[in-house]
Amino acid sequence: MHRPSPETSHCRRPRISISWKLFAYLTLFTTFILIVVWVFQIGLLNYFYRQSKYRELDDAEKSLSQVLEQSPDQLEERIGQLSDKYVACIRVYRLRWTGNRGYAETLATSPDVSSGCLIHSSMNETYLTYLYKQAVGNGGEYTVLVSRDDQDDSGSSNSNNAYTLPSRPSLPGVPTWRRLLSSETVLRANVITTGGDSGGTVYMILINAEMVPLNATVQTLKTQFWVIAVILLCGAVTLAILISRNISVPIEKMNTAAKRLAKGDYNADFVVNGYREVMELSDSLTQAADALSQNDTLQKELIANISHDLRTPLTMIVGYSEVMRDIPGENTPENVQVIIDETKRLSDLVNDLLDLSKLQAGTRKPKPEVFSLSDTVRSVMSRYSKLTERDGYRIEIDIDQDVDVRADRTMLLQVIYNLINNAVNYTGEDKLVRVTQRTLRDSGKVRISVTDSGEGIAPDQIPLIWDRYYKVDKVHRRAMIGTGLGLSIVKQILEAHQATYGVESKQGKGSTFWFEMNIVRDGRGNTPGSV
Ligand code: ADP
Repeated sequence: MHRPSPETSHCRRPRISISWKLFAYLTLFTTFILIVVWVFQIGLLNYFYRQSKYRELDDAEKSLSQVLEQSPDQLEERIGQLSDKYVACIRVYRLRWTGNRGYAETLATSPDVSSGCLIHSSMNETYLTYLYKQAVGNGGEYTVLVSRDDQDDSGSSNSNNAYTLPSRPSLPGVPTWRRLLSSETVLRANVITTGGDSGGTVYMILINAEMVPLNATVQTLKTQFWVIAVILLCGAVTLAILISRNISVPIEKMNTAAKRLAKGDYNADFVVNGYREVMELSDSLTQAADALSQNDTLQKELIANISHDLRTPLTMIVGYSEVMRDIPGENTPENVQVIIDETKRLSDLVNDLLDLSKLQAGTRKPKPEVFSLSDTVRSVMSRYSKLTERDGYRIEIDIDQDVDVRADRTMLLQVIYNLINNAVNYTGEDKLVRVTQRTLRDSGKVRISVTDSGEGIAPDQIPLIWDRYYKVDKVHRRAMIGTGLGLSIVKQILEAHQATYGVESKQGKGSTFWFEMNIVRDGRGNTPGSV
């Protein structure tokens, strides 16, 4: 497979440093905040201000309606309070009709809080009639926003959103000096009836409040906005530099260490202080370096072990052959047997090595078939008949019931041979090895155990014996038995079959190596569900 060289991959992916990326993101974020601030603080300021002013007028009007309805004698007092609270001029009329003609009688009025308000300075009968008609035609309420700079503009009969002066009748002039203070004023007329719709008393409430000119405020906000923009951008740059430094310094350190590791220096130091993710990366790299270093040591040990184990039989073969060639009378069947035995050991070692490397590389995969495990265990025994007859070994076999399993038969045979070989090699003086097959009804599995009466294995050694080339006693018996690969082959095969396995061992008493496999069918033809 073609892998892009580092150079070509550089060309494709533009390299942007963390600081630039961070700066870009922070600048984007700052710009977003500034836009929001601009829109709400400056662009919509007037709108929000008007809305809140209208709400104040609503509140005042509601409060006055309540007083008129419930306790008209407190009207004067309430008008005073509301006028103070909202800085507005308020006047309440009682309306009466004589024939076709209506009269507006002032019931109560506030002081002129804004000196020259429309109610106190400019209200006349015509305009009052006009306001009354607008309010009645509009459901009892009429609000008009009067622009003093533009008094003759066309009007609108909208209630709350009326921003321009009504066309007829035109408002009386507002003194020019007032324009300096305020360019807009809002006038609200409410017509209410108390004591029932027919025959009740009709009132008209007029409220006039000044709209504070916001131009100067907007101007101030604009100036402030630019100052804030500059400060925020400077903050973004500083933050980008600080954060990127905090992130990139440990990464650069790790990068240097990783380069050293790539050159084979397993002591490269990945320990850094930084954010959680960076520290986790540093931990992972430290673990990777440890694993690599261990692997390297194992590799070297393996080569040393293999060469040692190859050299021993080779030396024997060469030695015996030379003796047989040079010394007359040494060409005996015993010496030839030594050469044959050593050659066999060599071939065993090479075969085991090949097996293990194929299993580890995954090139030797199990070819599962359904077969009788019990028959397989029994058939193994025949191989040991010579051993039992000649050397006095006793291999006892105990099978509770026949079962079928699904596995690679050749591989499973290899497992059983390896376990029995080990048991024979390590068993005690009584030369007894017990092979047991038990059906575990609860789990639907079958367990094969191989027990010997040997020296046993120290508890701290037990996890290690499954390692490639591991031998508990590195000197003792090494040259005599085993290749040191048997159990690692067993482990690889059982793991490839998802089988569970283990060893129970007591020092001085012996060991039991076992593994468990799923039962496909028992002797009575039952599948595990019905076992
Ligand atoms: P070997 O070829 O040396 O037997 P194995 O991989 O089969 O290699 O076993 C690894 C080590 O585990 C052995 O060297 C031995 O120390 C220990 N071992 C294996 N089987 C037994 C046993 N039945 N009793 C005691 N020790 C054992």
